[in-house]
Amino acid sequence: MTTTSDLGDLDAWRALPAVQQPEWDDPEEVRAVTAELAKAPPLVFAGECDQLKERLAEVARGEAFVLQGGDCAETFAGSTADAVRNKLKTLLQMAVVLTYAGSVPVVKIGRMAGQFAKPRSKPVEVRDGVTLPSYRGDAVNGAEFTPEARRSDPRRLLQAYHCSAVTLNLCRAFTKGGYADLRQVHAWNQDFVASSPAGQRYERLAGEIDRALAFMKACGADPEEFHSVEFYSSHEALLLEYERALTRIDSRTGLPYDVSAHFLWIGERTRALDGAHVEFASRIRNPIGVKLGPTTTPDDALALIERLNPDGEPGRLTFITRMGAGRIREVLPPLVEKVSQSGGPVVWMCDPMHGNTFEAPSGHKTRRFDDVLDEVAGFFEVHRSLGTHPGGIHIEFTGDDVTECVGGGQEIVEEDLHQRYETACDPRLNRSQSLDLAFIVAEMYRG
Ligand code: PEP
Ligand code: MN
Repeated sequence: MTTTSDLGDLDAWRALPAVQQPEWDDPEEVRAVTAELAKAPPLVFAGECDQLKERLAEVARGEAFVLQGGDCAETFAGSTADAVRNKLKTLLQMAVVLTYAGSVPVVKIGRMAGQFAKPRSKPVEVRDGVTLPSYRGDAVNGAEFTPEARRSDPRRLLQAYHCSAVTLNLCRAFTKGGYADLRQVHAWNQDFVASSPAGQRYERLAGEIDRALAFMKACGADPEEFHSVEFYSSHEALLLEYERALTRIDSRTGLPYDVSAHFLWIGERTRALDGAHVEFASRIRNPIGVKLGPTTTPDDALALIERLNPDGEPGRLTFITRMGAGRIREVLPPLVEKVSQSGGPVVWMCDPMHGNTFEAPSGHKTRRFDDVLDEVAGFFEVHRSLGTHPGGIHIEFTGDDVTECVGGGQEIVEEDLHQRYETACDPRLNRSQSLDLAFIVAEMYRG
C-alpha cells in the first residue's frame, strides 16, 4: 500500500543540491509543463522494468552480457524512422555478433527514446567573443549558437516526452513486428556489405547463423526467441523535474517507477552521495546505473550501494565504469575488490568512451578507436584476474556513416573528421566501427 509519506519521499530531492539543472526563466511555466507531464501516459510499464531487472540479475550472476548504446545526445530532428531504424539495426547486428561469436545471451538497451538532456563541463560557451548559455540537450535548449535558441524553454520537456514516445514506438514495432526476426540477419546488413570489411565479416557470420537456423528447423526447433527481440530504453536521469513528473505508483505493487524509460543512470557529474540525483534514484524501483570515473574511491562505491541498493536486490544496480584506457588497469581493481567483498550484487559495465575524449587539431572532439578497445581490454583483464564478471559495454554510436571517432577498419584519420561530423554532443562510433568493436569484444568475451 502506498502512503502519502512514500509519495512525499519522491520529492525529498528538492531539499538537496541539484547540479546541472537548467535555469528556467519562468517557474510558472515549469509548473504548467510538469503538471501536463504528470498526466501523460507512461512510456514504459513497471512490469517491463522488473523484467529488465531480472535480465540484469542474470548478468550480475555471469549468465548474460549487456549491450547498451546510442547517441550521446538524441535530437528532436533525429527522431525519424530512418535514423531510429539505422541505430536499432546497428544495435541488433552488434548483439547478434556478440551472441553468436561470444556464445552469450545479450541484453539490449538503447541509449534511445529519452536521451535528450546533457550535463556540461561549463555553463556557458564563448565563440568569437560572444558568451551564451551552453547547449544542454534538446529537452532544454537548442544547439544553434543564438540567444533565442540557447534560452532554456520548459516546453521542450513536452517535446522530449513526445519524441521519446515516437522513438520507443518505432523501436517496439521494429523489434516485435518481424524486423528483428533472426531470419532477417542478412537484411540488416544489406546496405552495408560491399563497402565495408566489417560488413563482409558480418555477412559470413550471418551465413553461419542461417545454416544453424536451418539445422534447428530441420530438427523441429523454432523457438519464439528467434522471432522477436527484447529491447529496453534508457537515458541519463538528469532533469529531475522531468523524471519526477513521469514517476508513477505501480498499481500492482504500490511502488514508484520512473516510467520515462526502463533503465536510468546517474552521470559522473551528478553522483554526489548527498545530492538530489542519488536521492531521487534511491526512491524509484527501476533498474539504475551509476557512472564511475577515475576519481571514484572504493568507499564511494560502497556508499552508493548502501544508498541505492541497501537490500542487495540483484539487477537493481549497475556500475558503469569510465576510467580512460590509461587508468582502468590501476583504478578499477580496488573498486571491484571492495565491492565483491561487501557481497552486494552489481553489474559491472564498461563505458570505454567518456574517459578517452580529446580535441583534434581541427577543434573536433574525438576518440581513438584503439583507446576504446584498450579500455575494454583493460576491463576484461581486471575482471578476469579478480574472478568477477565483465558484464557489458556502454557505448556511444550511431547507425550512420559518420566520421567522428578516428581509427577502426575504415582507418578514419583526424583530417577526415570534418567530412561527416554530425553529433549534437560527444563523438560516436559509426556503424562500421561499432561492428568492428562487437567482433573484438566477442573474442575478448570468449577469452
Ligand atoms: C554521457 O554518458 O554522455 C556522459 C555525460 O557520461 P559521464 O556522466 O560518464 O561523463
Ligand atoms: Mn557523451
